[in-house]
Amino acid sequence: MAEIVDLADIVRQVSPEALHNPAMVTERAISDLEQALADHRAWAVRLHRRLIAGMPALPDDVAGDAHHRCAFGRWYDGVRAEAQPVLAGDDEFAAIGAVHQAMHAHARALLETPPSDTRLAHYDAFAAASEHLAAAVRRLQQALLTRLLSLDALTGLPGRRHMEERLSLAWQQSRREGRPAAVAMMDLDHFKQVNDRDGHAAGDEVLRWIGAGARRQLRAHDLVFRYGGEEFVAFLADSSLDAALGTLERIRRVLESSPLILDDGRTLRITASFGLAACREDAPVSATLEQADRALYEAKRRGRNRVVCWQGGGFA
Ligand code: GH3
Ligand code: MG
Ligand code: MG
Repeated sequence: MAEIVDLADIVRQVSPEALHNPAMVTERAISDLEQALADHRAWAVRLHRRLIAGMPALPDDVAGDAHHRCAFGRWYDGVRAEAQPVLAGDDEFAAIGAVHQAMHAHARALLETPPSDTRLAHYDAFAAASEHLAAAVRRLQQALLTRLLSLDALTGLPGRRHMEERLSLAWQQSRREGRPAAVAMMDLDHFKQVNDRDGHAAGDEVLRWIGAGARRQLRAHDLVFRYGGEEFVAFLADSSLDAALGTLERIRRVLESSPLILDDGRTLRITASFGLAACREDAPVSATLEQADRALYEAKRRGRNRVVCWQGGGFA
């Protein structure tokens, strides 16, 4: 491993979520869901055993907030409290919380109702909700697995697959909230020379370093993709063109002044060129992406290691 110059130390405060590798966080979320489901099953088995043995209900199971007291509930609440980046904002995850709460309400009704047809009906509702919960957890795991497979192995960033779709969704959301956004493209300068001079392994190390640096520099609700070899795309949420320009200019300067020091002591100085375009109400995000690409090309033409904006049909 090369020594990583921590770009985050040099610039403004960044959210801790942005520091995590998306591939690792996603993988962890999938296994946490597995554990949570196992915890739920253990809880349900305990409930069944006590019911069959005619034992009284446990206080936690008949409490009004039973869904916060079981192991699954405590884990669920923890994910939300910590704003875990993959799960906390996910719609399916929110739905799982509602199903879990309903499941506990049925269990409570069952436990509080004396033997009768009504009790049996509560049991059926509880059993159905319990299956519903397991199915929802499986669906979310499947969706996360699909996402994990679309992440680039070298940098851990999402790759080109689904990129436009995700950019479109992000822009739709910004528009709904009345917030501006911008799309940036970054291409490393003379990267072929790094491979030719320092070897392909050093080139790979640079790309990993750049990927981690990009995540650190951007905020949790920004998106960053490895678009191709040494090209990256970012969606800068809640950013006017001026604000986005400031962000990119800062990243450009940090990169220019932060050498990467390899294991053997070799020092690599990397610069990048950037193209930037503002998202527009009347244009699909693919058009903005194309404008950012043209601005990037112009940045290369003007001599590299610079940011060029697409503005009003020309370059600024
Ligand atoms: P420019 O400033 O015009 O962008 O020049 P450049 O050399 O960066 O551009 P060019 O497109 O000629 O070369 C890009 C290089 O990126 C070529 C390719 O070998 C290298 N590359 C692409 N993907 C990877 C990768 O995954 N690992 C490594 N080590 N190199 C890669
Ligand atoms: Mg390139
Ligand atoms: Mg290049």
